[in-house]
Amino acid sequence: MAHQLTDVPRLLADGAPAEEFGAVEIPESYRAAVVLKDESEMFAGMPSDEKDPRKSVHVQDVPTPELAPDEVFLAVMASAINFNTVWTSIFEPLPTFGFLERLGRESAWGARHDQPFHVIGSDAAGVVLKVGSAVRTFTPGDKVTVHCNYVDDQDPSSHDDSMLATNQRIWGFESNYGGLADLAVVKANQVMPKPTHLSWEEAACNGLTNSTSYRMLVSPNGSQITQGQTVLVWGASGGLGGYACQYVLNAGATPVAVVSSPEKVELLHELGVECVIDRLAEGYHFWSDEHTQDPKEWLRLGKKIRELAGADADVVFEHPGRQTMGASVFVCKRGGTIVTCAATSGFMIEYDNRYLWMHLKTIKGSHFANYREAWDANRLVCEGKVQPILSAVYPLTDTGEAAAQIHHNLHEGKLGVLCLAPEEGLGIDDPELRARVGEDKITLFRHHGT
Ligand code: NAP
Repeated sequence: MAHQLTDVPRLLADGAPAEEFGAVEIPESYRAAVVLKDESEMFAGMPSDEKDPRKSVHVQDVPTPELAPDEVFLAVMASAINFNTVWTSIFEPLPTFGFLERLGRESAWGARHDQPFHVIGSDAAGVVLKVGSAVRTFTPGDKVTVHCNYVDDQDPSSHDDSMLATNQRIWGFESNYGGLADLAVVKANQVMPKPTHLSWEEAACNGLTNSTSYRMLVSPNGSQITQGQTVLVWGASGGLGGYACQYVLNAGATPVAVVSSPEKVELLHELGVECVIDRLAEGYHFWSDEHTQDPKEWLRLGKKIRELAGADADVVFEHPGRQTMGASVFVCKRGGTIVTCAATSGFMIEYDNRYLWMHLKTIKGSHFANYREAWDANRLVCEGKVQPILSAVYPLTDTGEAAAQIHHNLHEGKLGVLCLAPEEGLGIDDPELRARVGEDKITLFRHHGT
C-alpha cells in the first residue's frame, strides 16, 4: 500500500518494516524553509544586526526535483540551524543565489539547483525513502544523519582530501534542497548512520559543527591536538565551541574556554571545563578604535590564560575573526597553531606579523570536513563519546526566529528544528546505550540551569 510523506512519523511509531518506507510516494512538492531570489536586496544598505531573518525566511511548498542516480530522498524528521543559515538569510556576504547559478551551469543535474527559491539548511536526520540507481550503501527505511560536504566524486581533484576538490560545496548553503524541510535531496556520499540512542533533533544537530571541530582539532588535516596541550577555544559554548571543548577534554588536553556571560561560564564548568574566561566580565577591548588594536589587551588575555592553565596556548581555535585574530596570534605559544574556519566579526583580518614569524607560529585554514572525517566524528557521537549540544528546539515554521536568535548571539550550543517529527524526544532506538552514556550528559545544554 502506498503511503504519503506525512505518514512517515506514524510508520516510525508503528515500527514499520523497511519496505513500507520504500512505498512512500515522493510528493510533487513539499514544505521547506526558503529565501527568495527576488528578495535578495531587501536589506540593502542596512547594518548587519538590523537584517532580520524572520522577514527573509519563508516556509512554503517547493516543487520536488528529479532524483539523480547518486542521490537519496530523505524524509527529514529534524534539522538544525547553523550560522550559514544566518548568512543566507541576511544575504551576507553575498546572496547565495550566485552559488546556485554557478552550480546550475555545471551540469544538467546541477541545473535543478538554479531556482528562484533556495531551500536552506545544512543538517538533517531522517529516514531514507528512495535511492537513485547508482546508490549501493543505503536503502529505504535506513535511519540516517547527513553531513554537508557536497562533492562531485567524478572530479579527480576530490580524490585526496575531498575538501580540496575544486568544486566542493556546502549542501543547503551552496546547493539547493537542504535540510530545513520535510524532504531533502542528498548525495549518497553525505549519508551516515543515525546515533541510535539519540532523538531525531539530538541526532540532527551534530553534523556540521561537530565535523568542523573534529577536522580543526583532531584530524591530521587540522591541528591534531595531543594530551597535555593547552587549547584556547573562542565561543566555547557555541555551535563549534561546544564540540571543540569536548574534543580537547577527550584528548587529555586543557581547554581554556572563552564565553560572554556567567551562565555560559557555569555551563562550561558543568561540561567539565575548568579554565573559563568571561570576555565581557574581563572587559577586553582588543580594538581601541575601528582601525587600531591594543597590544596591551592581547597581553592581558595572555596573562589570564597563563594564570588559569599554567601555560600558553599550543592551539587557538579561531572563528570570530577580525575582533580576535590579533589577540589569537599574540597569545599562541611559540611554534603553536592558530586554526581558523571563519570570521564572524569580519574577514579582513589584521595581526602583528612579527609575533607570527619570529615565534614560528602557523595559521591554518580549515573548512568543514571530508566524508571520512565527518564519518569518524559521527561515530564518536554514535558511541556516546561526544554529546549533542542541543539547547532549544523550534518548529520548522519558526526557522526565521531560530536564525534570529543565533544572529544576535542569544543562544547556547545548537538550535534544533522539528520538520516531520511531531514532537521532541522521538526516535530513540537504544535506551540502554542512552542510559549508559547518561541522560544528564546528553541533555546538558538543553537542561542547563533548569
Ligand atoms: P555560534 O553558535 O554563534 O557560536 C559562535 C560564538 O562565537 C558565539 O556564541 C560567541 O560566543 C562567539 N563570538 C561571536 N562574536 C565574537 C567576537 N566578536 N569575539 C569573541 N567571540 C565572539 O556559531 P558557530 O556555529 O560556532 O559558528 C561560528 C562561526 O564559524 C560562524 O561564522 C560560522 O559561519 C562559521 N563556521 C564555519 C564552518 C566552516 O566549515 N568553515 C563551519 C561551522 C561554522 P560568546 O559570546 O559566548 O563569546
